[in-house]
Amino acid sequence: MDAIVAMVYALILVWGAAWGSFLNVVVYRLPAGLSVVRPASRCPSCSTPIAWWQNVPVLGWALIGGRCWTCKAPVSLRYPVVEAVAAGLTLAVSVPWVQAHAGVELDLGPAIAGALCEQALVLTLLAIALIDADTFLIPDVLSLPLPLLGVVVAVFLGEPRAVSWQAAAMGAGIGGFGTLAVQWGYSAMTGREGLGTGDVKLLAGLGAWLGPAALGPVLLLGSLQGLLFAGGMAMVGVRLAEERGVGSLRHVALPFGPFLCLAGIEWLLLGRQWLPQLQRLLGA
Ligand SMILES: [Zn+2]
Repeated sequence: MDAIVAMVYALILVWGAAWGSFLNVVVYRLPAGLSVVRPASRCPSCSTPIAWWQNVPVLGWALIGGRCWTCKAPVSLRYPVVEAVAAGLTLAVSVPWVQAHAGVELDLGPAIAGALCEQALVLTLLAIALIDADTFLIPDVLSLPLPLLGVVVAVFLGEPRAVSWQAAAMGAGIGGFGTLAVQWGYSAMTGREGLGTGDVKLLAGLGAWLGPAALGPVLLLGSLQGLLFAGGMAMVGVRLAEERGVGSLRHVALPFGPFLCLAGIEWLLLGRQWLPQLQRLLGA
């Protein structure tokens, strides 16, 4: 049994890395309005088509030494990193499903269904985070399906996902309309836009997938990590303020989406353990 489970985990890693490779294409082409399926990938410098073996996730980049095989233009380290992160996240969300259903008999159906749904969620969040970091925009094609899919998935997925479809619908409503209210209030008071409409759809999606109880912690975690990141950037002397063409750090536009995605993934991976402890702590 252990050998089978180990083999399943290895297969999931390869599967996740392949999706990471596709995400690199999506993140590059979607904001540019290009097709994500064709043509096949080419070197952006010399347009030479990329051979299949160079496209093998992580390994391909290492084999070509981080440079285009033909013109020697550097290939960003971000590509293999995204592939490795996608592989790791795909495995991390799948492990609880495999463990929950790999008891006496391996019940593959529910394990695969649950793992695939949560893989789709973390990979979509990874794509949203990267595109928002690059362009300050979250494409509707990625964020709009999230609230609806979160509710649909909650209808038929059982343990270890403990979000009922009623909770998912409530989470989508609170996440979406709550954020809209905060957005209106903030812009009425300051005359500036604090949260983008992309963030509203993203929070509705996170509310649907993670449940209403996750929204507070996710917002808090996302904000804290965003602040830490901004502080870190200021401390290491990266002149983000000047780069963005704004005067002071208080007005620096830092996309919130990547930090919300990060917090959502953290909650998905660890929140199941955190929430009962948090409730105990608050109850005591
Ligand atoms: Zn080239």
